[in-house]
Amino acid sequence: MSRCRAIGVFGGTFDPVHFGHLRAATEVKEKLGLDDFRLLPAGNPPHRRGTHADGVHRLAMLRLAVADHPDLAVDDREVRRRGASYMVDTLSEMREEAGDCPLLLMVGQDAANQLDKWHRWQDLFTLAHIVIMTRPKASHDYSPTLAAQIDRRRVKQFERLYEQPAGRVAYLEVTQLAISSTEIRRHIAAGRSPRFLLPDRILGYIGYHRLYTGG
Ligand code: ATP
Ligand code: MG
Repeated sequence: MSRCRAIGVFGGTFDPVHFGHLRAATEVKEKLGLDDFRLLPAGNPPHRRGTHADGVHRLAMLRLAVADHPDLAVDDREVRRRGASYMVDTLSEMREEAGDCPLLLMVGQDAANQLDKWHRWQDLFTLAHIVIMTRPKASHDYSPTLAAQIDRRRVKQFERLYEQPAGRVAYLEVTQLAISSTEIRRHIAAGRSPRFLLPDRILGYIGYHRLYTGG
């Protein structure tokens, strides 16, 4: 397969987006040589108890984060759709856009450990490659079924992700930044400053809209 235009998708709640996300996104995009790389905020994630800030705010913060970085794009389809949205549906839509070109879904190790809790999770592998990024405090912790899927599909060279449109799994090391949105929300709720964990501009947005004051 000639090297066609692959699409990389980095999904998350981004509640709020922080330097852990942004640094990982930058490194993954560069290491995989992706021209089309999108950060995709979840609308109303069904596998979690809900988000803290509304999708419109989470989307606005992501847009602020990438405003000066045109190589990172934001895909707003899940937030626009409102209601429950499933990654499997989003990937099905993107598969149409990608044609026979590779589609790559990026997940951190903690999210990868939970992959078999996602709606129609087995279908994710037929729609996209899964790229698992290292994350502090998260080690491999798979159910036996998920472990079997990952082992079977695992490749060590990233080039192999370009040989077919979907179906492979690769691990990618990113700079370890032990930053989480949970920790940032806790700082804010406790009246402490989360500065230097996320861009100042987003901190300004959070303050202006009084987000996360209740945790
Ligand atoms: P929360 O604490 O609310 O769960 P979070 O910091 O984990 O927030 P998410 O929006 O849940 O952020 O994460 C989206 C994706 O980014 C997930 O795949 C997650 O594993 C990954 N990710 C989040 N933070 C980091 C980080 N510091 N380094 C690498 N990957 C990260
Ligand atoms: Mg998380």
